[in-house]
Amino acid sequence: MLAVLRAEGPLTRHELQERVGLSRVTLVERLDALRRAGLLSQAGYRESSGGRRAEVLAVNDSGRTALVADLGQSHATLAVVDLRGTVFARRDLRLPARHEPAEVVPLLIGTGRDLLAEVGRAGSLCAIAFSVPGQIDHVRGVTVAPPTMPGWNGSPLRDPFTEEFGVPVLLENDANALALGDYYAMGRPAATLVGVKVGTGIGSGVVIGGRVHRGETGAAGEIGHMRIEGSEQRCTCGRRGCVAASASGQALVRQLRETGVRSVDDVVRRVGQGRPEAVRAVRSAGRLVGVVLATLVTIVNPKYVRLGGAVGVLPPFLDSLRRTVETHAQESALRKLDIAASGLGENGVIVGLAGLVADEMLAAATVDALVSGQRS
Ligand SMILES: [Zn+2]
Repeated sequence: MLAVLRAEGPLTRHELQERVGLSRVTLVERLDALRRAGLLSQAGYRESSGGRRAEVLAVNDSGRTALVADLGQSHATLAVVDLRGTVFARRDLRLPARHEPAEVVPLLIGTGRDLLAEVGRAGSLCAIAFSVPGQIDHVRGVTVAPPTMPGWNGSPLRDPFTEEFGVPVLLENDANALALGDYYAMGRPAATLVGVKVGTGIGSGVVIGGRVHRGETGAAGEIGHMRIEGSEQRCTCGRRGCVAASASGQALVRQLRETGVRSVDDVVRRVGQGRPEAVRAVRSAGRLVGVVLATLVTIVNPKYVRLGGAVGVLPPFLDSLRRTVETHAQESALRKLDIAASGLGENGVIVGLAGLVADEMLAAATVDALVSGQRS
């Protein structure tokens, strides 16, 4: 019933009964149980055919709270959200290069506690969701070799937070979370969506039929480490010629160091000021990412490509990426292709993580357990 209400929006009891095909008695019984568990809310009244007012029911996705965190190579963003993706509080932390879990995990736990207390939502916390710029072993709850964060390789991410907060902890790759954010924000389109994140590093996520495609070992969409023909530039992963070695935010900082650039923020600022050397470097990065993205577009044939990350949303980057995909990808894969910057700005990953929590907490098995009192 919740799945129907989430997919179709608010419905009257009669409409819901028609959709799920339960007897009236069973329907009323189950609705009562969902209401007691705080999962249903009233969304007003509608005139019914007999002239009586019928109550309209909706999923209550604003009563419960999630703590979400996007952990990067040089930053962490934490936010307190509800299951609809409303952001109640948000904090950005700068992290030192090559940071380690021993210093960062306590910082994240403390900041999370502070944020929850600030907005008075600690009591309704139901889950935590985390994104990292690497692959994730979902069985063990650890990150697998994010090449730019060596200290986190094989580090348990789930356990310290489960122990501290006593709620389930979900993990996701950051580019996958970004792709999911756009997918949720666009109203869960049936069409395939590719999200590309170009910040300090480069990653992508593929959402097919409403699910993120993680692949056999969680490596699906790792386009940053696809090879560019003829490039010998050494990459943070240890190999040579990866697109990330020439076109990531980190690579741009290196290329522009002589002009005084020290961070990805500096690159963004200079492009905003129209400084020719920065615009030229970013345009060239867009072309290189476009080359590997054209391959992905040809293989997956998506309808939507959404760009995120500090570099990915820069107009010269996006323009040159779009032109390259249009000249390199297979012609019919381009016919319905829509390439644009993510509509979520800097909240893309956060919204994706909130949606991930909603999908998990409102899944049939979780709800059944909650309603029958196995969880509370
Ligand atoms: Zn690489």
